[in-house]
Amino acid sequence: MKAAVLRKMQDLVIEEVPEPSSTPPGHVKVAVKAVGICGSDVHYYKEGAIGSFVVREPMILGHEVGGIIEEIGEGVDLPVGAVVALEPGIPCGKCQHCRTGEYNLCPEVRFFATPPVDGVMTGYVVHPAEYTFLADGLTPEEASLAEPMSVGVYACREASIHLGQRVAVLGAGPIGILTAMAAYAEGAIVSLFDVRKKRVEFACSLGFSAWPFRQGPDLKYDRVIDCSGNRDAIQWGQSVVRPGGKLILVGMGAKGSMLIDGLDLASRGISVQGIFRYSNTFPAAIELIRRHRGKLAAFTEKRIPLDELPTYLASNEYLGYIKTIVTVD
Ligand SMILES: [Zn+2]
Ligand SMILES: [Zn+2]
Repeated sequence: MKAAVLRKMQDLVIEEVPEPSSTPPGHVKVAVKAVGICGSDVHYYKEGAIGSFVVREPMILGHEVGGIIEEIGEGVDLPVGAVVALEPGIPCGKCQHCRTGEYNLCPEVRFFATPPVDGVMTGYVVHPAEYTFLADGLTPEEASLAEPMSVGVYACREASIHLGQRVAVLGAGPIGILTAMAAYAEGAIVSLFDVRKKRVEFACSLGFSAWPFRQGPDLKYDRVIDCSGNRDAIQWGQSVVRPGGKLILVGMGAKGSMLIDGLDLASRGISVQGIFRYSNTFPAAIELIRRHRGKLAAFTEKRIPLDELPTYLASNEYLGYIKTIVTVD
């Protein structure tokens, strides 16, 4: 089977890799159909690293996957032929984090396309059944959105967003928009902000109240969720949290750049919460995608075949789309 293998920084090739030879008990073999290109795939391709995760040996890219069950291992009760979304991180299941449900913080987690673990831009993947989720009624392309949607679902859950709260989401890229959808589903009054005019217009076209960064109504927000990782956005975001409100950090900026004013936190009773990936979110994420499939059409429209990925990433063409889906036959 073919795979998109990142040999090293800016050296991405499509090459033959061995197909999984068996499906062990408790696992499913999934025919990969659609893989969303994520910012992290682009970072590994362009820079060869994200923080302390460095590509040191060839690695298959991709972690946002929708596919079809091809084969089931012993003891698995999932239907062959069903469309599924795969949760990309497999935690150890034994440590304190795993046992208390915050398995996103498991130090032993093996996460697709995070060095040295291979990703899913390939023909087949064998995956534990408990991290495989039925996405009935969705296409594999739509199912691949369950991963980025999970980030938004988890951020909103951790931020304890309630009916009628005012929520500002900073950054109207894919994660910002999906987070805004999750906040809206919780009953929040949501505003999105971005520096890029095109993104503001896109968010408006989806029915959101969206504004150029630092503009919009003069309001304070119960929750500000930063999905940009940008220093200026976070500083401004902190200034528009109401006293007693919460600043939620989803975006990852460069080391040392995400500055928080502690005196302001203390004197206005603001709390800050960091968000790393997600846990126990896939069923909710799939349900949200089902409800918003019309609005999410733009997320699955731009598709490229696996063979074209190296030239596509090299050309920067992906920058013109909210999301690009790599299709695999
Ligand atoms: Zn992603
Ligand atoms: Zn663990």
